[in-house]
Amino acid sequence: MSSQWIFLSGEFVTKQEASISVYDHGFLYGDGVFEGIRAYEGNIFKLDEHLDRLYDSAKSVMLDIPYDKEELEQIIAETIRKNELESAYIRVVVSRGIGDLGLNPVSCSEPRLVVIAEALSLFPKELYERGVRLATVASRRNRPDVLSPQVKSLNYLNNILVKMEANQAGVDEALMLNDQGYVTEGSADNVFIVKKGKIFTPPVYLGALEGITRNAIIDIANELGYEMVEQPFTRHDVYVADEVFLTGTAVEVIAAVEVDQRAIGDGEPGTITNHLLSEFRKMTTTDGCSVYPSNNEVQVG
Ligand code: PMP
Repeated sequence: MSSQWIFLSGEFVTKQEASISVYDHGFLYGDGVFEGIRAYEGNIFKLDEHLDRLYDSAKSVMLDIPYDKEELEQIIAETIRKNELESAYIRVVVSRGIGDLGLNPVSCSEPRLVVIAEALSLFPKELYERGVRLATVASRRNRPDVLSPQVKSLNYLNNILVKMEANQAGVDEALMLNDQGYVTEGSADNVFIVKKGKIFTPPVYLGALEGITRNAIIDIANELGYEMVEQPFTRHDVYVADEVFLTGTAVEVIAAVEVDQRAIGDGEPGTITNHLLSEFRKMTTTDGCSVYPSNNEVQVG
């Protein structure tokens, strides 16, 4: 079997060689930012949007990514090509770098970039056919005025804790509320509800990451002529919705058919959810940036 190649601070190394110092503040303090991106048949979906979000996250925490966006785009494409992948899940991580044991980032010499591309492990088809089960969890989404959910930082403990609560409740995914009890999002996905043909999703200022899949679904819904509304809603609104679905890079669009032991609609994935999923899947192969540049000459490093 050929090696898996990982881009680590300027060079490609094998998966076995790809290691980071225990003094890296990404490891010691979760001091860093990341993105999860997906390539479909040689097409990197919404790469510009993902890179904009990565650079915005980095700017917010005053982290200098040691490459400009064009260079990083090339590095990502090269990582996919070098691993001979067409469809891939791509993880881009930028950490503060190696410092001393104190949390002060001034001790860190230089930020480190890691790009990993792996074959997609797709969610089983049955999951899309039967839908997932959700539970609202006790842990609240961290407040935007404390650490903005728009900063996709390496500190994902809030999300990990809610995922553990979902596991304990024996369901597939958690639904997080904000400190006022409004629905925000899942542990790694945005949430939508459908009522009487209208589609609703919470405004991100309530405490949700502005998901790239979320935005793509809002565009698709508008283009298809659905009434698409960003407005706060509560658990009750979710329970009595006709359809509920989640969106995210990994999961794409997936129906939630049960929330806190209440069946949603007739307990089956809804027609609007299925319609949006099929339109989304058309978009993923047509609306993105090609892994294969026409000149085939990519300089990396
Ligand atoms: N919310 C959170 C907390 C996430 O981590 C993710 C995954 N990036 C999402 C929502 C969905 O965002 P996207 O559609 O950009 O993957």
